[in-house]
Amino acid sequence: MTDGWFTESLHRDVAQALRMGRVLHRDTTGHQDLVIFENDTLGRVMALDGVIQTTERDEFVYHEMLTHVPILAHGAVRRVLIVGGGDGGMLRRCLEHPGVERVTMVEIDRGVVDLSIEYLPSISAGAFDDPRTDLVIADGCRYVRESRERFDVIIVDSTDPHGPGAVLFTQEFYRDCKARLTPGGVLVTQNGVPFLQPQELRDTHTRLAALFADHGFFVAPVPSYYGGFMAFGWASDDAALRRPGADALRARYRAAGLETRYYTPDIHVASFALPAFMERALAG
Ligand code: SAM
Repeated sequence: MTDGWFTESLHRDVAQALRMGRVLHRDTTGHQDLVIFENDTLGRVMALDGVIQTTERDEFVYHEMLTHVPILAHGAVRRVLIVGGGDGGMLRRCLEHPGVERVTMVEIDRGVVDLSIEYLPSISAGAFDDPRTDLVIADGCRYVRESRERFDVIIVDSTDPHGPGAVLFTQEFYRDCKARLTPGGVLVTQNGVPFLQPQELRDTHTRLAALFADHGFFVAPVPSYYGGFMAFGWASDDAALRRPGADALRARYRAAGLETRYYTPDIHVASFALPAFMERALAG
């Protein structure tokens, strides 16, 4: 952070900078360096260990796609596990589905939850107070290894594969996630910006391929994740789940009474169409 600008430190040769208005909080939580500041264009912004996590202005893209895509594709989700997700945006979107009976959110850093509730209340919008919310403060990798719970959808809403988030990109973690899925369950993951992080894409592809009968990626443009659209990993043992028809999705979207700003059933279907450079990266 220099002369009033926050410069992201995720990539070696490129960086984005956001003008810092009022700094609302800056501290080390015991797990990560956390800063929350105001930006005239993006609203309130949270960064962890120098990497932008979420902004009030564009959080809806990422949170709507990583929840509504697997939940509407599955069609009968009752139990969801979120690994990470400290800002509460993912939790809020899962709870918008009336059929969802319980969302277990395993977040390693209590400080992220507390400070998000205090300084970014518009993102969680009360989700932490929902009676269906089960907040667990723990390492998500250890949780899936030791838990005996089963979930219809598992959403990995982690930081990038550095620091505490690194374990959430490993083969062991994905293997233990698979053991936590109900039959016909779906695992989806935050998987970086493939134009700048192609190795992260290839690594997840290889690891999921070794565990699941069907796997792939879907994409969405998140303005504050620099470098083009973001990739989301997808894995299940039922290939039909990755290719639901737009008409079925429309019916489920309407039945759930959703109101979205990015997700639509047609965007859902189209988001699995990948550009050639990604297909070549995945073909090795
Ligand atoms: N949208 C962001 C992105 O795409 O990078 C992720 C946002 S969310 C704030 C990331 C969360 O993952 C943080 O709250 C962080 O504390 C949490 N996290 C990192 N490593 C974790 C772990 N091993 N177990 C559970 N939560 C973890």
